[in-house]
Amino acid sequence: MTRARTTLVIGGGIAGLATAMALQKAGIDSVVYEAHPTGADGIGVFLTLGSNGVDALRVLGADKPALAAGFPTPGITLRNSAGKHLGESSTGRSLPDGTTSQTLKRADLYRVLHEQASSRGIRIEHGKRLVGAEETGDGVRAVFADGSEVIGDVLIGCDGVHSAVRRIIDPAAPAPTYAGLITNGGYTRGVRVDTVPGSYEMIFGKRAFFGYALALDGEVWWFANVPRRDEPARGEVEAISGDEWRRRLLRLFADDAGPAIPLIEATTQLTTMSPIHAIPHLPTWHNGRRIVIGDAAHAPSPSSGQGASLSIEDAVVLAKCLRDHPSPQAAFTRFEAARRPRVERIIKWAARINNSKAAGPVGRVFRDAMLPMILRMTADSKALKQTYDYHIDWDAPTATDS
Ligand SMILES: Cc1cc2nc3c(=O)[nH]c(=O)nc-3n(C[C@H](O)[C@H](O)[C@H](O)COP(=O)(O)OP(=O)(O)OC[C@H]3O[C@@H](n4cnc5c(N)ncnc54)[C@H](O)[C@@H]3O)c2cc1C
Repeated sequence: MTRARTTLVIGGGIAGLATAMALQKAGIDSVVYEAHPTGADGIGVFLTLGSNGVDALRVLGADKPALAAGFPTPGITLRNSAGKHLGESSTGRSLPDGTTSQTLKRADLYRVLHEQASSRGIRIEHGKRLVGAEETGDGVRAVFADGSEVIGDVLIGCDGVHSAVRRIIDPAAPAPTYAGLITNGGYTRGVRVDTVPGSYEMIFGKRAFFGYALALDGEVWWFANVPRRDEPARGEVEAISGDEWRRRLLRLFADDAGPAIPLIEATTQLTTMSPIHAIPHLPTWHNGRRIVIGDAAHAPSPSSGQGASLSIEDAVVLAKCLRDHPSPQAAFTRFEAARRPRVERIIKWAARINNSKAAGPVGRVFRDAMLPMILRMTADSKALKQTYDYHIDWDAPTATDS
């Protein structure tokens, strides 16, 4: 057994890599254990890093390469199935230097964070799927599927929405909630779309929701959210081929205005269809020397555009707490007090967006009538400012984070 008196970070995704970098900044050693044998491949979903997420990455000095991997997407235009303009919404606010929210491929964000962490000398071990984590009195023993074990001072579960650490910390932890939507998307060129680069267009279609953005190099990035009432069995929708999903999406969007049909037709490889899950309220985030953060603790649905940003914020705030508090328990308690109200507020807001995407015919009429007014009311609301203006002062004591 390896005895590494260090922090064990489980999961080398967004939260895990950001956590390792934040811990290093706080003077705390860590090793990242990632289940996948290699890094993320180049195909997959894209996401929007809110201005708050960019700001948190800035604390780690990792914002510039992330910004270089994507393009700014400060706003969203919403339309109904007939192409009627319903209003505008924002994906963030401007940071003092004018930087706005950024859209990038999730694989590119992983790659950037991985490169940043590696270049700082952080050890990342691949092919390490955690299957057990028990307290040893003055440490934690992590057990991996390959039979290896390691002991550390503290264990931080950054292992995503289907977290193993969450169930180890609290076997009664609620399972992820299915949001009533399945989602996929794609990237394509050569289709003219009526939008300027960096503006998101989102369409409440008759049967499904469609969003797209024109990247600076002319590629169009799109996604579809398809309502499905019953939760698919694990792997069920993933097992259906991209070509079959293309045929189904073409039927779903056949009666809607907008470029969904030519974009879907022109896309050679659709991303894997997957159900959307959320963790709206996890009662226990930590137990002894073990804690979960990021999606493992509080996954919002992708509709929030906040999952990645909240994960990076978590990483920075947790590192500050471990820096400032003498015991892991005190640090975790402070962390939860600082983070729970914020993340749960954002998750509730995202759930409302999902409901509007999955609306039936009657709900659709109501939504289309009310949305312009709601968008005007929320354009400069306190909630929007609270979400996007969140700033972590690294040098301030953790008591000021909330
Ligand atoms: C379709 C889609 C669209 C999205 N759009 C947005 C968006 O626009 N904006 C936004 O902010 N967020 C978005 N998100 C959410 C965002 O991707 C997540 O919130 C974010 O990735 C959470 O980071 P994480 O590190 O907590 O989890 P993840 O990024 O999921 O990383 C978890 C890591 O842990 C590893 N792992 C899992 N189990 C184990 C184990 N037992 N042992 C070791 N390692 C393990 C996994 O392999 C993975 O590398 C979207 C998500 C999806 C699916």
